Amino acid sequence: MKQESLRGSGLSPFFVPEDFLPSRPSVKQDLNTDILIIGGGLSGLLCAYTLLKAGRGVTLVTSNTVGDGASRFCSGTVTGDGGVDLRTLRDTVGREQAVAWYRLAASAVEQLEKIISDTGSKCDFRRRGSFYYTSFPKEASALREEYLLRHHIGMDCRWMGAEECEEMFSFPCVGGLWMSDVGAELNGVKLCRDLADWITLHGGAVYEGSRVDVIETMRDGGYLCRCGEASITAKGVVDARGCEILKKRPQLGRRVTVFSIATEPISVFRGWPDHCLIKSRDDFSYLRTTSDGRILYTGELSASLTPEGRMGGIDANALCRVKYGNLEEELKEMFYGIPRIKREYSFCQSLVLTKKGLPYLGRDPQWKGLCYLYAFGECGLAGAVVGSAWVSRMLCDPKIQGPEYLTLP
Ligand SMILES: Cc1cc2nc3c(=O)[nH]c(=O)nc-3n(C[C@H](O)[C@H](O)[C@H](O)COP(=O)(O)OP(=O)(O)OC[C@H]3O[C@@H](n4cnc5c(N)ncnc54)[C@H](O)[C@@H]3O)c2cc1C
Repeated sequence: MKQESLRGSGLSPFFVPEDFLPSRPSVKQDLNTDILIIGGGLSGLLCAYTLLKAGRGVTLVTSNTVGDGASRFCSGTVTGDGGVDLRTLRDTVGREQAVAWYRLAASAVEQLEKIISDTGSKCDFRRRGSFYYTSFPKEASALREEYLLRHHIGMDCRWMGAEECEEMFSFPCVGGLWMSDVGAELNGVKLCRDLADWITLHGGAVYEGSRVDVIETMRDGGYLCRCGEASITAKGVVDARGCEILKKRPQLGRRVTVFSIATEPISVFRGWPDHCLIKSRDDFSYLRTTSDGRILYTGELSASLTPEGRMGGIDANALCRVKYGNLEEELKEMFYGIPRIKREYSFCQSLVLTKKGLPYLGRDPQWKGLCYLYAFGECGLAGAVVGSAWVSRMLCDPKIQGPEYLTLP
């Protein structure tokens, strides 16, 4: 086994390069910029890209390395749906807003593809079909209702009954929802690095190893941000600090720990058509293949581990071993037609789940030039893509507001 990050704090996933250390300058002197972006994960970098495209001046500062934070551990699955079931969302935010979010999230893959082609990013982006299934007979009718709802709003999806599922997949499913080509997979860290390179090449500035802790308003309506000993003044600010915001506002989400394993490369994916993305409705788990032929399996959600590696009274290292073992055994059972499934990498990391399952984006109610984008939730990548476009528009036009259902409570 090459990497086993038991507590998930030290080791990076296998897809993160070994030279994952700050290599860009840090903020050492006072700066003045048009828009300051705080946070160099996918949300911040995508905002910087979009704002530069809109002709704005951009400075991005991030506390460690570009692509750190959740983006470093991201499994890179974009399913092309809204993350949360449309049916569930309809019950929490109402039909109109649920449909609005679904349409927004569905556009994320296309937007991503354009950005990747424009920036020339080599982030292993591939369009994929996606399969969303249940293996519990009592859940089949709820999933079929989900299919009907999605179909009704014009999503390109197909219902697969138990027989058809059995023909295509080697694991038991009583029903599933198939969406061809609407999903995608990518390497989040590579995308972050390529975006940072593109930003600096196109007149933006990217600083690593630089924390912004205080944001103040100035008399002229601009902002003054403290970054170590230096100050940064800006006309507008994007707060894309990721889960760090929970330290200030813990009510925004719930931290959980999620476990991932990657297998040794496999040559024939028997029982797994077209390397599609697979998501279970029965628990929080999803699977994809990687560009070097591995299976990447994420799931086994648990309460959040403490930085000291404990969960309640339990030693988390023992828990991690059990979780990684469970994932490997489940994989072997699901894909019994694949002769040699062997776990090579294991890692875990905390993930933020929100009450509605949606990201947050909007404008500060008092400081109109301060926008936030926290791409939490079950489809964080889609949130980062569509959210960054929205936030950029809000900064370019003070009349534009964020969608009400995505604004902070
Ligand atoms: C294990 C795991 C698997 C995931 N898998 C998927 C998936 O398959 N599909 C999907 O859609 N989503 C997935 N996600 C979610 C996805 O990774 C995130 O939604 C996405 O990366 C958005 O990141 P972000 O930029 O908002 O935050 P982050 O990536 O956390 O970036 C925030 C950055 O801000 C920096 N920062 C924080 N505070 C400061 C400060 N004061 N000053 C300066 N910088 C600061 C941090 O160092 C960090 O680099 C996954 C997340 C995890 C943890």
